[in-house]
Amino acid sequence: MIAVKTGVLRVVDYDVVVIGSGLAGLVAAAAAAAAGARVGVVAESFGGLAMWSGLVSGEVPAGDEELDAVRFFVEFGVRCGLEYGGCGGGRGEEGEAARKGMEVLSVSGRPVRCLLAPETAWAGDLRNWASSGTEADDGGLLVVGFTELEDYPAAVIAGQAAAETGARTAHRTVSLGRAAGRGLGVRIAGLFDDPAWFEGFLETSCRVLGREARRFRAVALPPVLGLFRFRSNLEALRGSLGTAVFELPAVPPSVPGMRFWRLWRWRLEADGRTSFHLGRRVIEADTDGDRCLAVSDGLTAYRAAAFVLATGGVAGRGLEVPPEAFFRLSEPTGALRPEQARGDGGSARTEEGAAPVEPIFGLETCGRRTDWLSWGVRVDDFWRPCPAGGPVNVFVAGWQLGGPEPDALLSITSGWRAGKAAADCREEGTL
Ligand SMILES: Cc1cc2nc3c(=O)[nH]c(=O)nc-3n(C[C@H](O)[C@H](O)[C@H](O)COP(=O)(O)OP(=O)(O)OC[C@H]3O[C@@H](n4cnc5c(N)ncnc54)[C@H](O)[C@@H]3O)c2cc1C
Repeated sequence: MIAVKTGVLRVVDYDVVVIGSGLAGLVAAAAAAAAGARVGVVAESFGGLAMWSGLVSGEVPAGDEELDAVRFFVEFGVRCGLEYGGCGGGRGEEGEAARKGMEVLSVSGRPVRCLLAPETAWAGDLRNWASSGTEADDGGLLVVGFTELEDYPAAVIAGQAAAETGARTAHRTVSLGRAAGRGLGVRIAGLFDDPAWFEGFLETSCRVLGREARRFRAVALPPVLGLFRFRSNLEALRGSLGTAVFELPAVPPSVPGMRFWRLWRWRLEADGRTSFHLGRRVIEADTDGDRCLAVSDGLTAYRAAAFVLATGGVAGRGLEVPPEAFFRLSEPTGALRPEQARGDGGSARTEEGAAPVEPIFGLETCGRRTDWLSWGVRVDDFWRPCPAGGPVNVFVAGWQLGGPEPDALLSITSGWRAGKAAADCREEGTL
């Protein structure tokens, strides 16, 4: 039995333990499992996926390694039954245009650029529906809202989209009926997963919208077309409305994020190499010299050759902001040294008690003052915690890395890299 500080009741063994099941944790688990490792994922919740727009934004990957990570993400998505595409890593998409990603409508009606989008959003690429400028083809978009879902106001979205793009737009709001209740996208997605209910919806939407929809190049709908049956629902709607149909990006709570989490988890479990321990908060680590032997949630110890810390920074509860840090960082004069006040990305150390705390390993953190999302664990070139002397078999991924503008692309590339590196530890035995 390992010597964790609290009395654990059982010990489970893996090659790699991933702490966190947000985007970075899932990608890390998939990458480690693809490299042949037996993986345990220990996580409290779905993290930021519950609030995710569903789009992957970030800088266009410059290096081969980043592109490999994106390709892995896209290919694994195909196996999960939820395809992502839009940039160089996307399936069947080559060349400069593909590398630039897509421009889609946000819920405010403004175009936003992203590198990758889920299949449900592809037809929303502005290139598909904004006017081509020729007389024969004036493009156009019909925005459809649901009376029961006020977060996606069709009139506002259509009006703003017309102002921003110059395209012809119109809007309609339809009722989903009494079964929909009011307001919650995840509940409404449940209705779309019910084939009998959806058949009725299809009939009504075809009757109410069909004639008008055909006059537009695409129809935009709220992103609630089912947690599972979204693909067949979209196809059926496309067929009956006679034009392209897509989902707008999500506002919280996010059906696209929930879909993603479920489908990736199921694929990982079905592949037989990954086990999930959910609703568990890791509270401590057992280390021996410069190696971590196990982490524990107080009841179970998870022992492994290597660990991925994908706990999401301040937003994901992977960093805690104690009151003294909150007040000292918020002081106008600041409790930080001058080089940090310049906001150099955190290359200098904070004074004692003036920084968010990494609670599992007690790792050093850095970031830009009250810009909480920029805080993360300080890492070396191999994305292991530094300064040296920390655990060498722990790899940091996702928003726990902090940085000026963390985004989903960071979670994908760092999760992939951390998962592979952690799986390599198992083969190497030592580091
Ligand atoms: C509102 C919102 C909108 C977004 N929109 C976009 C967008 O438009 N484009 C884009 O590119 N990205 C967007 N993102 C970012 C993206 O969705 C992810 O949230 C981001 O990549 C962070 O992923 P992560 O896995 O690093 O952390 P998180 O998603 O925060 O996951 C952290 C995980 O660690 C777990 N955890 C933390 N501490 C512990 C512990 N001690 N023990 C066990 N488990 C623990 C949490 O439960 C969770 O599972 C958005 C995020 C938010 C919140």
